[in-house]
Amino acid sequence: MKLDSKIPSGPIETSWDRHRFGMKLVNPANKRKYDVIVVGSGLAGASAAASLAELGYNVKCFCFQDSPRRAHSIAAQGGINAAKNYQNDGDSVYRLFYDTVKGGDYRAREQNVYRLAQVSVNIIDQCVAQGVPFAREYGGLLANRSFGGAQVSRTFYARGQTGQQLLIGAYQALERQIGAGNVKMYARHEMLDLVTVNGQARGIVTRDLVSGKLETHTGHAVLLCTGGYGNVFFLSTNAKNCNVTATWRAHKKGAAFANPCYTQIHPTCIPVSGDHQSKLTLMSESLRNDGRVWVPKQGGDKRSPADIPEGDRDYFLERRYPSFGNLVPRDVASRAAKAVCDEGRGVGPGGLGVYLDFSDAIKRLGEPAVRERYGNLFEMYERITGEDPYKVPMRIYPAVHYTMGGLWVDYNLMSTIPGLHVLGEANFSDHGANRLGASALMQGLADGYFVIPYTLGNYLAGTKLDPVGPDHPECRAAEAAVKERLDKFLSIKGKRTVDSFHRELGKLVWDKCGMSRTSDGLKEALKKIPALREEFWQNLNVLGSADSLNQSLEKAGRVADFLEFGELMCLDALEREESCGGHFREEHQTEEGEAKRNDDQFTHAAAWEWKGTNQKHELHKEPLTFDNVKLAQRSYK
Ligand SMILES: Cc1cc2nc3c(=O)[nH]c(=O)nc-3n(C[C@H](O)[C@H](O)[C@H](O)COP(=O)(O)OP(=O)(O)OC[C@H]3O[C@@H](n4cnc5c(N)ncnc54)[C@H](O)[C@@H]3O)c2cc1C
Repeated sequence: MKLDSKIPSGPIETSWDRHRFGMKLVNPANKRKYDVIVVGSGLAGASAAASLAELGYNVKCFCFQDSPRRAHSIAAQGGINAAKNYQNDGDSVYRLFYDTVKGGDYRAREQNVYRLAQVSVNIIDQCVAQGVPFAREYGGLLANRSFGGAQVSRTFYARGQTGQQLLIGAYQALERQIGAGNVKMYARHEMLDLVTVNGQARGIVTRDLVSGKLETHTGHAVLLCTGGYGNVFFLSTNAKNCNVTATWRAHKKGAAFANPCYTQIHPTCIPVSGDHQSKLTLMSESLRNDGRVWVPKQGGDKRSPADIPEGDRDYFLERRYPSFGNLVPRDVASRAAKAVCDEGRGVGPGGLGVYLDFSDAIKRLGEPAVRERYGNLFEMYERITGEDPYKVPMRIYPAVHYTMGGLWVDYNLMSTIPGLHVLGEANFSDHGANRLGASALMQGLADGYFVIPYTLGNYLAGTKLDPVGPDHPECRAAEAAVKERLDKFLSIKGKRTVDSFHRELGKLVWDKCGMSRTSDGLKEALKKIPALREEFWQNLNVLGSADSLNQSLEKAGRVADFLEFGELMCLDALEREESCGGHFREEHQTEEGEAKRNDDQFTHAAAWEWKGTNQKHELHKEPLTFDNVKLAQRSYK
């Protein structure tokens, strides 16, 4: 396997323009001769499908929900970044680029990030043109707020429902193309395998989740826009159905998986309340604009927060990071919260919580202003916890939220399988070892609206593609393998439910490969995961049949993939003998407890190649070079 990142040389400011000019084009009349498969209808998939159809390609779009509008993107709350500098507070394309490279702890490709910052400004215009109701200032200008890792206000938002509003915009564009006959939408269809012919991605095998029917769909290129793998941890802020299946099956067909150990733990989530729980809830990072994070100075202080005077409180983020205060990046804020809880100063049941307090903001701005900014988030918090955050501080604790790792892609968003492109959270590209808040929506829409429309044409125009239909032997073989696997799940008839395996795997990876990792812990996980996988294949119990709606069967496939993927995640974490961003190895920290990188040995993306069942993965390294930003120890002090 060769990793050719296809990064343009020359000045970074003009890289993308020069690259675009150098790309081959498909003339308008020829576009309708190409069939493009888009798996996923979240922000990345919907924007890509709509844009490609608008250009004239025939698009087939798949999602497992009952409507494209239910993709996990709809849950995004806080906002989307763009270097518009409407605030006149010093922002620029270069600053967004710089903040993102630094925020990612210098483990992302400079050229990708620069392009992302450049197209960020177009995204806002595109969305406004679609009618996305971004918040506005009194005078009518679009409003901005701040997110972690930045000292400017560049986050555009629609209350705490930004993902929903952006997705409605992209969905409308998609529906227009469905109505025009350029996109055929397949809701409630789950991709269960990728079909490759002559080494090129040429189709997918899907299961109709209602009828159970297996189908093979062929095309000239396949785009995976299938989201992240955070649910490997069982408990996460992701929608319950998010999974690794599409990317993992593509990985087993030859797509390298990059940096799987880079997962993001978000500092402001509602703390776990017990073993019964199957889902965690995010409290948007935007709350850190006005909320102040604190714990009592003394461990074991059982007084109610209102009774703890200022002098007995430790605003630990403001104390440790005076420049950025409560708006330090997520990895830094999460570790700081864990540290005070480990010292015994955590609040709430079990001591795994810190306060996020709005009393100062309410005094300063008044309750109506706070309600206008965050009303739906406060309401959600109260519904879940029974506590009114206008009156008592929220209790929050870090939780799994996002995955920076994903399928390796080159500058054109193509994986190591020719024709297989990967967009949005499913790829590894732009966030390095830590994603800054409000940058995922930006990246998904950049990929879908502004990058793939160019780079896909370049691939199609420059590649010989033989005709392939569903009767091709490779399609038949892939479909037969999918059927065999489904039958296998149903035939085991063991004693344990899918969820019990998932829960056990999740706890294991959270304990050993979660907010902090050690060599010993990772080695232990690497022993336990194969044993758990073995038991899964001997002792799983899936009721029902494969020819009707069967959610246990759906989950069985996803958990089987998590059980393989979890092992690679731990292997990658063990191999990376440094701390960077969301990957914190306890052996590698500064005296002050900050992440300590090892730039000499680890300034690379780790791309893993599948070598077969029970074979060790092979590691390939893409060196990262920094010509425009100087590598430095990250400081938010
Ligand atoms: C609670 C929460 C709040 C967030 N808030 C923000 C925010 O304010 N700002 C920000 O920038 N980011 C935020 N994020 C992150 C951001 O929402 C996601 O990274 C982003 O929406 C992912 O978009 P996507 O299009 O890549 O994937 P998704 O929206 O996850 O879409 C995946 C699509 O793929 C389909 N799919 C997956 N697998 C298959 C398969 N095997 N077969 C068929 N279809 C499949 C699904 O049906 C779905 O349509 C938040 C995340 C969470 C969890």
